[in-house]
Amino acid sequence: MPGDIVVAALGGTIASARPSAGGVAPSLTAQDLIDAVPGLPSNVEALSFRSLPGSSVTVPDLMALHRLLSERFAAGAAGAVVTQGTDTIEESAYALDLVHRGPQPIVVTGAMRNPMLAGPDGPANLLGAVTVAGSLSDVGCVVVFADEIHPAARVRKTHSTGIATFVSVDGGPLGYLVEGAPVVVNPRASRHTLPRPSALPNVGIYPASLGDDGSALAAMATVLDGVVIAGFGVGHVPSGWTPLIDSLCARMPVVLATRTGSGPVLHRTYGYPGSESDLQRRGAVPAGFLHPYKARLLLQFALAAGASSAQIRAAFGVAGQVSSTERWPFL
Ligand code: ASP
Repeated sequence: MPGDIVVAALGGTIASARPSAGGVAPSLTAQDLIDAVPGLPSNVEALSFRSLPGSSVTVPDLMALHRLLSERFAAGAAGAVVTQGTDTIEESAYALDLVHRGPQPIVVTGAMRNPMLAGPDGPANLLGAVTVAGSLSDVGCVVVFADEIHPAARVRKTHSTGIATFVSVDGGPLGYLVEGAPVVVNPRASRHTLPRPSALPNVGIYPASLGDDGSALAAMATVLDGVVIAGFGVGHVPSGWTPLIDSLCARMPVVLATRTGSGPVLHRTYGYPGSESDLQRRGAVPAGFLHPYKARLLLQFALAAGASSAQIRAAFGVAGQVSSTERWPFL
């Protein structure tokens, strides 16, 4: 019988131990993680799904996990917790959010301090995540970390070692855990989902950087089906890139995001070659508030769903939260 809350372990620091000489590595099972939490409700099912560092988790891993969780939900599970390496939580949570349609929450968590260290944060994060998975509904996928509840579309890992590393840029957290109970202060307005992709197109991210002549982008694009450009500021690239942008836009979707880490790509403020308005006139699709890592996943999933250029543009208008006229183009 499935438990009410499924705890699926994928590895990461939260599940790491020191098996021999050398550094820690993922090795603990889902049951080990559950056993380390005082006060965890008894209605949890342990599911050891992978034992990987966050850096080696793939989208196919996540889609296989989502298939399995969907079966558990159909059998009556009320929610799920996914424990994994924090290195890729901001992407894996968004990938799960893009395909999860049900009312049951999927809550991703992990730890910054491994269980060998003083004050490991994994047990408290797991307790918080199970609490949220058993309490909220219709929130899609959220990240619970350090007593904060973050929406998958906004959450970012912002510090390489700090335990308060997860931050919801451009809008703040969905809510908080207060005295052990979730309090939602910023409810989710809408959810946008696509079919689970079976084959994944190759989509890359390329950041603009000072004085770059674009030759590395041109070389990289030869193996891509789509590209996200993380532009300077509100969406700018060096003016010398404009012929390359023209040729890329003729061959594949080109999404324009910002490399700054927060704030939107603009549309009509600057008017020189390589500016945001110039690039969009050439065919680049603005990502709005969507971070380049998340924009890459959305473009990958949209291409996998066979989306037209107009559908890709509409999807970014909605997901990027800058278009009031576009509608989500997928069923
Ligand atoms: N530092 C990472 C973590 O917090 C390592 C990983 O992503 O596996 O889990």
